[in-house]
Amino acid sequence: MIKVYMPVQVFSGKDCIENNIPVLEGLGKKALLVTGFSSAVKSGAQEAVIRALESFGAAYKVFNEVEENPAVETCRRAGQEGAAFGADLIIGIGGGSPMDAAKAVSVFAADPGLSESDFYNKKWNGEPLPVILVGTTSGTGSEVTDVSVLTDSSGKKHSIHDPRLFARAAFGDPSFTLSVSQKTTLSTGLDILMHAIESYFSKRADTLSEVYSTAAVRKAFAPLLKAADETLTFEDREALYEASLLAGLAINIGGTVFPHNMGYYLTEQFGVPHGAACAAFLPDLLDHMKNTDKARLDRFYRETGLSEAAMAHLLEKTLPEMHFGMSEEEIDGILPRWESNNSVNNTRGGVSVQEVREILMRRLGS
Ligand code: NAP
Ligand code: ZN
Repeated sequence: MIKVYMPVQVFSGKDCIENNIPVLEGLGKKALLVTGFSSAVKSGAQEAVIRALESFGAAYKVFNEVEENPAVETCRRAGQEGAAFGADLIIGIGGGSPMDAAKAVSVFAADPGLSESDFYNKKWNGEPLPVILVGTTSGTGSEVTDVSVLTDSSGKKHSIHDPRLFARAAFGDPSFTLSVSQKTTLSTGLDILMHAIESYFSKRADTLSEVYSTAAVRKAFAPLLKAADETLTFEDREALYEASLLAGLAINIGGTVFPHNMGYYLTEQFGVPHGAACAAFLPDLLDHMKNTDKARLDRFYRETGLSEAAMAHLLEKTLPEMHFGMSEEEIDGILPRWESNNSVNNTRGGVSVQEVREILMRRLGS
């Protein structure tokens, strides 16, 4: 079966912004640039965007206050600034945090009085402004998904999906990822891998998402392993960027499964970077598949040319040490979070509450 909707015009490769200026020109004349604290400038991406905007006389304003795991409130503030400026276009520049924020900013810019609960309940007035995304990490694939992952006012991360959150265009120039630190390269690289693998083992996986998943794993595996010991070349960075887009296309169809949602908890409570937080649960996902659908797991290894030992070696080289020391009582206290959870329910083979508890005890217990 194949069922797909992905309306984003995607351009990748060196100088893809300056080579496609008419695409930007067609989308707006007054842009709010939504960025993190320094990555947009450090990567060179902001300069490339501004050069393109100036070439056709567009006005712009920069909002450079998007934090990691962005808060809904930050997006609302940016949306209000965009509305006051009269923006007709939102350009998100950065890793997943500024890109996800830009999607939400497009909603708030059209409806600046929107409350947090109405935002999550999609009671949006007005059509969100058009969005352009310019990635500076290879990881989330947010460029090609209709997902925005934000932190609510109680400190909990949620993903919101809506076709109106798809960008109109996305630009992925791997040169902008050359400035990413080794630690972030490893974590974002693990995010690529997790998107591809989780989508493959999701209930919604189909013929096309499997093609995206296996291609993403094949492309990302070697440069990710290399990043543990060596400096990556432009070609390595390009392979990781393309893998990140492929893995984004895979989750756009299949979605993520339990490691992503459990990973949110590690990020919220212990500050573990997103990709590493999700990958901490990869051994549990592979075990789960071995016990519930070994034929599919074997097919995954065959199609990616990998093995159980290769996966274990990669995690050993790339995952940071993690010890959380939670007590049994504390784990029982957080268990309800996963009792009727979409990502848990989307996992092939079904994951019982008992299995969730065992996984949490193994990963978070003392
Ligand atoms: P990020 O949170 O956007 O950025 C992590 C760090 O890397 C920040 O300190 C950032 O600096 C820095 N950085 C980014 N690009 C850089 C560059 N080129 N050079 C130097 N430093 C750079 O990281 P991310 O892993 O890309 O995004 C994670 C977020 O995306 C999480 O909230 C996650 O839940 C979400 N996510 C979304 C989807 C989706 O489909 N929408 C999928 C998976 C994950 P600045 O602070 O200066 O920006
Ligand atoms: Zn992710």
